[in-house]
Amino acid sequence: MGKETKNIVIVGDGVAAWALAFYLREFSVKIISGAKHNHTCSFNSTSINCLRGTERGVSSLGDLICDSMDEFENFFQTHSPKGVDLGYEYQIWNELDHDKWVRRYPEFLQVQNDSFLSQHIKRNSFYVPNTAYFINPQELRKWLLDHSHAQVQSDFITEISLNKNEYTLNGLNGDYQADMVVLACGFQTRFLTPNTDESFAYYLDHCKPVVGDYLELSHARDHFPKWQESFNFAVGKYHFIYRHAENKIHIGSTSLNLESRELADKDLLRKIYHDVSAQLNFELPIFESFSAHCGVRHKGHKRLPFWGKIDDHKLFSVCGLYKNGFSFSFLAAKELAREISEL
Ligand SMILES: Cc1cc2nc3c(=O)[nH]c(=O)nc-3n(C[C@H](O)[C@H](O)[C@H](O)COP(=O)(O)OP(=O)(O)OC[C@H]3O[C@@H](n4cnc5c(N)ncnc54)[C@H](O)[C@@H]3O)c2cc1C
Repeated sequence: MGKETKNIVIVGDGVAAWALAFYLREFSVKIISGAKHNHTCSFNSTSINCLRGTERGVSSLGDLICDSMDEFENFFQTHSPKGVDLGYEYQIWNELDHDKWVRRYPEFLQVQNDSFLSQHIKRNSFYVPNTAYFINPQELRKWLLDHSHAQVQSDFITEISLNKNEYTLNGLNGDYQADMVVLACGFQTRFLTPNTDESFAYYLDHCKPVVGDYLELSHARDHFPKWQESFNFAVGKYHFIYRHAENKIHIGSTSLNLESRELADKDLLRKIYHDVSAQLNFELPIFESFSAHCGVRHKGHKRLPFWGKIDDHKLFSVCGLYKNGFSFSFLAAKELAREISEL
């Protein structure tokens, strides 16, 4: 059993909450899951961890991306969790974009010299392989929560108040008491935080919802029986992702600033399907065999994520994880768990 001495509530049921519950595994925590009531980006994501040439010492965002990836890899190597499949992301470009990509990847290879890539990519082009972790959110969630002391309660919180060192969370199904609360609510965080400190309010006011649409095909090996491991062809702006363990293909995704919606834009996805198809040397299953999905990312102010305390008592948040939620969450969880366990 986890320690009973702290009554910790995490609001949210995405990767930020799952990772934190795991890093707080010596404590009993309650996760209040709004997943049945509203959108969870972590279940509507193409969920890959890959450094993509990011290096330390260039920007504070780049440093955080590298530190988070280190923490994720450390977690992966130490615990061998379920729901993480290792493979490669191939960044691929042609002559037209050569100058742009060479700045990021001064050392590159030729597609025509690689038998797997030249079979699958149409034009004579250049590429760089990067190690990538293909994450199955449902499986990773199960593993993280099975290895924590988290109790999951389905509810949607409408208000949080503090009275005599105790928080009361009002939900649609009931009220909850807590000594400490962590909001891991993605782009909805803004609406649960009326009395937080000024700098956090400023941060939230400058965050944006950013929609991402993508296509999904199940039973991928019915079409491509020879593929043996996960890979991602990052061709131009879009990705063709084969997820071996899940036996799925993803194509996408869009990045539409200031949009938050739960229905995918099928017209846009049809165009992306044709754009990606034009770069591939094999025939894709027909558009109609794919299902359309979308998720709403929370883009932090200056693209920076946030985690830390947000009032002068024991209210915390982790949000603004944008396109790196599956690695940022692990560094955030490590640092928040340390702070919380010292209180
Ligand atoms: C198309 C797409 C592709 C992506 N690809 C990648 C990728 O390759 N790699 C990567 O790292 N990231 C990727 N991302 C981003 C990543 O998915 C997100 O950063 C991550 O899922 C955010 O996790 P989160 O836990 O912060 O938020 P969420 O997963 O959105 O979770 C928030 C939770 O809070 C709950 N909630 C909100 N308000 C309340 C309330 N009032 N009461 C109770 N519960 C509440 C919601 O129901 C939800 O369960 C992608 C995103 C999209 C859309």
